[in-house]
Amino acid sequence: MQGIPVLILSKESRRTTGREAMTSNIMAIMAVAELLRTSLGPRGMDKMLVDSVGDVVITNDGAEIAKKIEVEHPAAKIVIQAAKTQDSETGDGTTTVVVLIGELLKKSKELLEKGIHPAHIVNGYRLASEKAIKVIKEIEISVRSDEDLKNIAMTAMASKVVSADREALAKIAVEAVKSVAEKQNGKVTVNLDNIKVVKKEGAKISETKLVKGVILDKELAHPDMPKEINNPKILLTNAPLEVEKTEFDAHIRIDSPDEIQLFKKQEEKMVLDMVEKIVKSGANVVLSQKGINDIAKSFLAKNGIMAVARVNKKDIERLAKAAGARILTSLEEIPEDALGEAEKVREVKIGDSKFVFIEGCKNSKAISILLRAGTKMVVEEAERALHDTLFVVKDVVEDGTFVVGGGAIEAEIAKRIRDYSESVSGKAQLAVKIFADAIEVIPRALSENAGLSVIDIISELRKAHNEGNIYAGINLKTGKVENLLDAGVIEPTRVKVQALKTASEVARMILRIDDVIASKRKAPPRPPGGPGGYGGPAGMGGFGGGMPPGM
Ligand code: ADP
Ligand code: MG
Repeated sequence: MQGIPVLILSKESRRTTGREAMTSNIMAIMAVAELLRTSLGPRGMDKMLVDSVGDVVITNDGAEIAKKIEVEHPAAKIVIQAAKTQDSETGDGTTTVVVLIGELLKKSKELLEKGIHPAHIVNGYRLASEKAIKVIKEIEISVRSDEDLKNIAMTAMASKVVSADREALAKIAVEAVKSVAEKQNGKVTVNLDNIKVVKKEGAKISETKLVKGVILDKELAHPDMPKEINNPKILLTNAPLEVEKTEFDAHIRIDSPDEIQLFKKQEEKMVLDMVEKIVKSGANVVLSQKGINDIAKSFLAKNGIMAVARVNKKDIERLAKAAGARILTSLEEIPEDALGEAEKVREVKIGDSKFVFIEGCKNSKAISILLRAGTKMVVEEAERALHDTLFVVKDVVEDGTFVVGGGAIEAEIAKRIRDYSESVSGKAQLAVKIFADAIEVIPRALSENAGLSVIDIISELRKAHNEGNIYAGINLKTGKVENLLDAGVIEPTRVKVQALKTASEVARMILRIDDVIASKRKAPPRPPGGPGGYGGPAGMGGFGGGMPPGM
């Protein structure tokens, strides 16, 4: 039994162990965190991302940056995954979570170098993050008015490329979320799928519109159709109003010019029959997923019917729900109860583009936002900003609470964790203390990015909190430490809680890894940013409670 090596790994695998593995993981994560740190906050810088085919995106959105950069190191991938989870759970705070993970690991590296065992750090971080969540719950504020919601939306947009127009977008976001909010058994829920954002470049952001209904990025099928109909009867169909080309090669033998005429006549007749049925049904708006041929178009127009061809499937489905209509797969029979209702359908010309608005639908939970901006690139960044904004308003409408931003919540947590650390015994105490220092990275980075003196600002911030000003933060508009609740710099509780939980869990997870075994097996080609050949540790999909107890 002696001296025989037992091979459990293929010769091809690469393995790093112990301190070397941990250091490599920590360094990789710190590098990603450094990259994102300069884009934190309203005064943060933007990133210009160029993909492999040369497409350029300019953004400040942590989730977008995380998605686009292709990191190779397995530990860095875990951080990117954490940012994505933060985005899908709360819609905001993606840069924050990455910066926090980086700082927690940077601080722990200092302790590791002093010879403290990772287990003590893991333990201390767990205690500290539990305390941090408790602190948040103690000082969170209940929503007082719509003004709070608007300020939360404004804060989320402060750091975006489109921040100059945030006033207009914030108002729209609040109205949109409130219109789709539903209350069931005392619990408010917001389904953001009910809000459709239609983006169109070529106008100012301030011309963005909220429509209580559905917007189609389409024009009417014929210029002679009515441009507006009140109390319309809406027919939705996925049947073509034309003779479709068959998928199979159908050979029609036509031997003489007469037969061509006859064939055309028959085709015409079939289409006209369908139109006649529509007219009889009482429908005066026809929205079809398929095509409508010229004969049908002009016949519909003659009968005062509005029609739109080639409406996309999703929109037809949304309309069915909103207008209470059934989607007809054939026009052979059009039952009256299949028709939907709304207050108004109209074609609207905005700039050079035409849209069809279906407003005041039976089910008022369908909301559309026609998002405008000058260029394609800006309208896309505006869409990302609007996504975050709608999401943060949803968070707060659902939870009913918020906290104060600009580093205020972090400063108060740091202070209370420092006080709490006195009650923690043993080596974990050191880790609890450095957790408090680490969380101050948020006010540090915010002031650093604004070109303020970090040392002065942080000492002033600490002083204010020691004096009991729990809402003191850095107002980046004035460059001063102020009460930011009064200044309206506020954020959803959910964003902060999730960021803290995730950051602490990821840092602890990294600190428990002492072995990295990378198989050399060629991984199949993967989409950018997707999991690679190494794969993350099991259960990396979400960070909610994935930790074994006691870690
Ligand atoms: P994230 O991706 O983490 O949301 P952001 O770049 O959006 O990162 O920056 C968010 C941070 O900016 C939060 O800590 C927030 O409180 C802060 N912030 C936003 N507006 C202001 C402001 N006017 N003054 C100070 N801090 C602000
Ligand atoms: Mg943000």
